[in-house]
Amino acid sequence: MINYISTRGAKVGEFSDALLEGLGEDGGLLVPEIYATVETSLLKKWSTLDYPDLATEVISCFASDFDKDQLSNICKDSYTTNNFGPGIVTIKNVKLSDAKTVYLLGLSNGPTLAFKDIAMQVLGNLFQNVLSEKGQKLNILGATSGDTGSAAEYAMREKKGISVFMLSPKGRMSEFQKSQMYSVYDENIHNLVVPGSFDTCQDLVKSVSNDLEFKQKFSIGSVNSINWGRISAQVVYYFFGYFRVLEREKKELMSPVTFVVPSGNFGNILSGFIAKSMGLPIKNLILATNENNVLDEFFKTGVYRVRSLDETFLTSSPSMDISKASNFERFIFDVTGRDCMQTKNLWDQLRDVGEFKIDSQVLKKIKKSSGVISGSSKHENRINMIKKVYNMNRLVVDPHTADGIFVASQNYDDSCPMVCLETALPTKFEETVNEALGFIPDRDESLQDIEKRQRKFVEIDSSIDALKRYIEIHAKPT
Ligand SMILES: *Cc1c(COP(=O)(O)O)cnc(C)c1O
Repeated sequence: MINYISTRGAKVGEFSDALLEGLGEDGGLLVPEIYATVETSLLKKWSTLDYPDLATEVISCFASDFDKDQLSNICKDSYTTNNFGPGIVTIKNVKLSDAKTVYLLGLSNGPTLAFKDIAMQVLGNLFQNVLSEKGQKLNILGATSGDTGSAAEYAMREKKGISVFMLSPKGRMSEFQKSQMYSVYDENIHNLVVPGSFDTCQDLVKSVSNDLEFKQKFSIGSVNSINWGRISAQVVYYFFGYFRVLEREKKELMSPVTFVVPSGNFGNILSGFIAKSMGLPIKNLILATNENNVLDEFFKTGVYRVRSLDETFLTSSPSMDISKASNFERFIFDVTGRDCMQTKNLWDQLRDVGEFKIDSQVLKKIKKSSGVISGSSKHENRINMIKKVYNMNRLVVDPHTADGIFVASQNYDDSCPMVCLETALPTKFEETVNEALGFIPDRDESLQDIEKRQRKFVEIDSSIDALKRYIEIHAKPT
């Protein structure tokens, strides 16, 4: 049986409890007590599985309270060709010069064209399952600046026992993102538009979630980037990508592979680190940030410093615009020997003075054991990389993916294959792609008219009372 604990010490329960709870009651993040170890013989068995079957195997390593057949049905329902196209996750060669080639792992073929669909689709079905067993309802409350909100809505529409209340800022989102999100018409999906910024939305969500009585009464839950269900579902594609690359390269099982991850809240790359901890032969995990280089700074200097609002830049890879990395606590917990007291002390320090520093010898050890290497990319780098990839391959990549490929090229390693994760499709960020290439990438036929679709949303005041009132009227009765 796999039990869950908080990084600051509290006991939590099992996978289904970790799914529904956000933070631990002590403010820490939820993690399994141990990670399963995947031996070579098991890797070999997994290497020929299709995506839904591999997802069943990997997720069951974290979910001992789920019946394997049940999990298999959930994965088969989530990872359909209809939802994600043939193969679910694809792989391509990308030439960077005559001597340099990387692989691109296509994670963005889902309904909202970003990698978040992969975890969110399975999360919707996991929730539905747990809720029906417990006879409970869930009202998901969240804030989005674009990708998370629509991925959540497309995953939770038509799910029994679940409603979604998603706050988005009145300006800021791209026309495509707005059209995508506000054209979900299902009765259980509520788009609440708030005057202000993403942070205004985020603060409202926090205030309501901190009202424990209200939270309990309306069974408020979340699907934000610290949700353990999302992290565990993302572990799958590191295994899947690894196997596909070995096939392409005709390499023996256990040969090392490096992954390159465009990073914001450290969720995606944390999943890669967990895959490595389970025994997947990952040589390096290359972390790419944009101008918001909180994480690059940490891996270069050992200083983890949360940025103020003024120091958080709005960039052309907006889904990586973060002032702190929500999942980082899980990583630090693991690489410093899973010491709850020490983790708590570091985050207390962060709360009190806005930063902490890891000793340089310790940092060296962390980098060696985790394989993490970091770099950052700026507007000019991503624009040039979009151009270069197009010129050499006739392939259009999105700005976030371009950040990853740029940092990969800066840290190019010809001793092992490098796999860059494609975190969104270029259609989602047409303006930046147009700036780089002078044209807008071809869209799937189903998306041609998306801007013309009717938009369904409700504007509310940016006040806690207004939000609570709306939820009181529209929440699923519990
Ligand atoms: C969310 C997102 C990221 C960042 O992922 P994290 O898990 O937060 O590190 C990168 N690119 C795109 C397109 C995203 O939507």
